[in-house]
Amino acid sequence: MFAASETSRRKVRVAAMRSLLLAVPRSSDVGELFHLLHRELSRLVDTTGFLLGLYDEASQMVEVVGQIEAGVVLPGGSFPLGNGFLSEVIRTRQPRHIHHWSVEGPRVQVQYATGTPGLPEATITVPLMLADRVVGVLSLQSYRPNAYDEDDLFTVQALAPQVSATIAALQPQQGAQAVRRVSKLEAVLSSMNEGLLILDEAGRIESLNPPAREIFGPIGDGIILGQALDDEQQGHWPLGARAVAEALAPVVEALRRGEPRRDVEVELSSQGRRVLSFSGTPLCDANGQPAGGVVVIHDVTTQRDVARMKDDLLSITSHDLRTPLTVLRVQVQLIQRALQQEAASPDELRSRADLMLNQTDRLTNMLNRLLDLTRVEAGRLDLKLERVDLSQLIRTTVASVQSLSSLHTISVHTPKRLEGDWDEGRLGQVVQNLITNAIKYSPEGGRIDVTATTDGRNVTVSVRDQGLGIPPEDLPKLFERFYRVAGTRGLEGSGLGLYICQGILAAHGGRIWASSAGRGQGSTFSFALPLTL
Ligand code: ADP
Repeated sequence: MFAASETSRRKVRVAAMRSLLLAVPRSSDVGELFHLLHRELSRLVDTTGFLLGLYDEASQMVEVVGQIEAGVVLPGGSFPLGNGFLSEVIRTRQPRHIHHWSVEGPRVQVQYATGTPGLPEATITVPLMLADRVVGVLSLQSYRPNAYDEDDLFTVQALAPQVSATIAALQPQQGAQAVRRVSKLEAVLSSMNEGLLILDEAGRIESLNPPAREIFGPIGDGIILGQALDDEQQGHWPLGARAVAEALAPVVEALRRGEPRRDVEVELSSQGRRVLSFSGTPLCDANGQPAGGVVVIHDVTTQRDVARMKDDLLSITSHDLRTPLTVLRVQVQLIQRALQQEAASPDELRSRADLMLNQTDRLTNMLNRLLDLTRVEAGRLDLKLERVDLSQLIRTTVASVQSLSSLHTISVHTPKRLEGDWDEGRLGQVVQNLITNAIKYSPEGGRIDVTATTDGRNVTVSVRDQGLGIPPEDLPKLFERFYRVAGTRGLEGSGLGLYICQGILAAHGGRIWASSAGRGQGSTFSFALPLTL
């Protein structure tokens, strides 16, 4: 019984195939071919989703002749060969039979908005080949898992050569020109650096160029064409993120009224911080009515970061430079007054001059730090490598720093000599920075241990103090520029020292890190670097 019905099913299929194979070459254009294929294949297999695409090898463009989704004809359009599902079938020249997409299928990048919730669950998608050339792609989709069996795959594959031959026969008259004409515009759009969205009069995405796919692809579950940008459907936003939809809402609103809208920004935090800027320009139809528009997308993350850094720099420098300048001015005024009143004693003048010298040193240090900051930022920290004895360098630095405080005892634990090829000035700067920090952030005084060891290839130096300590959540951020731990801001500092130390060590092929058992538990700052570069 089963065998009989199976045989009759085969017979029907063979008969349908025969008439289809005869009908296909009689199509007078690719549009007619598309409708014929859809109508006839529907008798044999599930064609809930159906798409015919032409491929032009020269320009690497795919021109969608047409697509049908649950009986509704959707707009065609064209796109450059990319990394999506159809492109992969064209590229690999291999047919794909997916039984259960949500379980085994590749991620869908671009999809059309439809009344049916969810994505197709099964597909047969075959390349249309002519000799070893791909001339197109034919895709059948269904929302039912396992909608297609091996016979269906065989049927579609058996049909493919006839469809390819028909396309090739029709192409010289029409197909290729159409693809090439569209390709020129597409080529211009794809060569742009900016992302670009083309919207219809209702604010639905008609198409987007590759940079836009790159920007929005990773944000959400994929890009949904044919859905208004400010419209959520079944939990999906057309460009993946609610923040994008919210930022674009006023742009889309303006385009619906036929008005431009410039530089609307949105900050996204998924996949790292990114700042996108949107500008919309309206398009009009022949009667001057609003007909959608174009939205240009710039990734302005770097510009915003630079602007933020400039602001930080400006506020910090203006604050930190003003203090010593004020002190200098007051001292000069006091000296002037004493001279006018002829009451200036040499002792007073000497102590004021000392104070002024001290403040000018502070200013010079600060300016040097800013200069170093710009050098580290630009990767232009040029090193003057020479033979350096690190043990000696540590001893000299400790001797000069020890005189700053009688509250602290600095002990040095180093081998007698520890030689390597480094920039002596820069390395001295790192050692000095770590030791002065150890003093500064142990306001109660205490013991400071400076240790250096080597394994014959690298040296490791650590500076341990018994001071304020560092909360665990601050440890990873200490080496960011301008970062200061809350509670230490009353102590003088710019938050630049460790950032610059990190830059100096990185230029030497080394690294720096910090550890602390927590607030009030003291801190250890260590760095390691190779003996020779
Ligand atoms: P500055 O000392 O000028 O603020 P640094 O970059 O040298 O800048 O240090 C950054 C921050 O790291 C300091 O503001 C301080 O909060 C913390 N820090 C650095 N060294 C120590 C230390 N030895 N003990 C505790 N906190 C420290």
